[in-house]
Amino acid sequence: MQDIKQFVESGQIARFPGGIHPPERKQPASEQPLRRIPYANELILPLRQHIGVSGQCTVREGDHVLKGQPLTDAVLHQGLPLHAPTSGTVKAIEQRPMSHASGLPEQAIVISPDGHDQWRERQPLPDYQQRDKAELLDIIQAAGVAGLGGAGFPTSQKLAQQKPVSYLIINGVECEPYICADDRLMREHARDIVLGMRILAYITGADKTLLAIEDNKPEAIASMHQAISEYSDIELRVVPTKYPSGGEKQLIQLLTGHEVPSKQLPIEMGVIMQNVGTAFAVKEAVIDDKPLIERVVTLTGECIEHPGNVWAPLGTPVDALLDFAGFKPEQQQRVIMGGPMMGFTLPITAVPVIKTTNCILVPSTEELPPPGDEMACIRCGACAEVCPASLQPQQLQWLAKAKDYPALEDNNLFDCIECGACAFVCPSEIPLVHYYRQAKSQIRNQAREQAKAELAKQRFEARQARLEREKEERLERHRKAAEARKQMQQQKAQDAPEQESNNDGKSSAVAAAIARAKAKKAAQEGGSAGSEASDEATTQPRPAQDKSAAVAAAIARAKKKKQARDQEDKQ
Ligand code: SF4
Ligand code: SF4
Repeated sequence: MQDIKQFVESGQIARFPGGIHPPERKQPASEQPLRRIPYANELILPLRQHIGVSGQCTVREGDHVLKGQPLTDAVLHQGLPLHAPTSGTVKAIEQRPMSHASGLPEQAIVISPDGHDQWRERQPLPDYQQRDKAELLDIIQAAGVAGLGGAGFPTSQKLAQQKPVSYLIINGVECEPYICADDRLMREHARDIVLGMRILAYITGADKTLLAIEDNKPEAIASMHQAISEYSDIELRVVPTKYPSGGEKQLIQLLTGHEVPSKQLPIEMGVIMQNVGTAFAVKEAVIDDKPLIERVVTLTGECIEHPGNVWAPLGTPVDALLDFAGFKPEQQQRVIMGGPMMGFTLPITAVPVIKTTNCILVPSTEELPPPGDEMACIRCGACAEVCPASLQPQQLQWLAKAKDYPALEDNNLFDCIECGACAFVCPSEIPLVHYYRQAKSQIRNQAREQAKAELAKQRFEARQARLEREKEERLERHRKAAEARKQMQQQKAQDAPEQESNNDGKSSAVAAAIARAKAKKAAQEGGSAGSEASDEATTQPRPAQDKSAAVAAAIARAKKKKQARDQEDKQ
């Protein structure tokens, strides 16, 4: 790190290996002021416009939406929301051809503008320093800001890396021929870009900000130089024009004198890089509460009458851009999205501008002849000489054709930045980058499939382990229950004789008691028969006997009295 610091402080510009000097052809588009294109009849907004997963739709067909209103919710890792570029009605949510070489359809929200361009409520935040960094990252994420330099990685996620940052590099190099969107932005919006740079430096805590611009943009250099003059911690670095100086690893090497090691990220060196367009979008998101709903697009090529740069609302069909610029198509006209080195030919033009669209190039056949038929590699080595990543492009090409993916990885295929410098110099017109992209895609697919299979295997093994555990637990429970039953039976067996003897004792006691009761009764009966004759007064007469005796006595007394009265009557 000390070496890097010394190098940066010295203000030197290093070199990177390889590189080419293709015709720049940035004029005449770069000389025209930025224009604003009217809203097209429909704006097509693919749900996914960045590296990562798409968000969930939050609107339905027929809904009325306001300018800046979120249309999707970013709920997953690397997700970014989309916003309505203007007010209007959600005309459809359906599959539409997408802005890539295949033209395959993807899910998109289609909006019919209502012509009012009515904003949702906005909450500008001019004093962003009063907010903590996490809050600013949330604002940038909610505004859907992705890297506008090409890849479209979510900006908030790149900024959220929890590692110390010594240098924030702002990339205004824009090295690809034809493209001049950043050039015009720097010329016309230097102050806004610098405010975005201040926000980025505040969030990252970078010690110093380095602004890099290629020396073929003198007006942009002058404009930015003036805008940064009041900030002592921002330094301008003018780098020589060479393609691909704007590649992340190449520019870091130019400014720090150190190469980013293979398979490592710049943050490991204490460096983070953002594009000038991204810095502008960050300023608009934080200070103006304006989400990413438009971007600068270069319209260029000899088949356009009015080349230049335009503010294009996201979702604007390429057709509408071409009409605006005065398109004069040739036979078998090619329409390229991006530049001549890294761009791709569109299969149809009814595809929209997305967050990563920086250029629409419509060259004439003389200006940019279509690639000829592929011939055999002659092993000239020209491709290796110009490779900025110090790779062996011809070797990679053979391995890619042989689908030898492990060998491709061993040969650092993923260090290839797809700059196209090798294909540019190849005398055999081999579309080398095409092979690398295909191979990378296959390797990524295989890795995804392997990850899925590994996950399924882990789930299966976890389930098996759970079932096995449950079976063991069940068996253990059964074993313990059987043991308990056995112990109980043993105990019963031990207790049985004692119980029996207890039972016998009880029976004999009862029998003895019965015998005693019988004997007593017999004794009582015998005793009462003897005493009746001998002692009548002491003998308790039974109630029936008492009653008969009383009746007999009364009769006797009555007879006696009657005899007495009869006697008296006779006398
Ligand atoms: S430049 Fe083309 S022909 Fe020459 S070695 Fe490379 S791939 Fe082969
Ligand atoms: S496309 Fe890849 S292999 Fe070819 S020059 Fe660029 S980095 Fe090297």
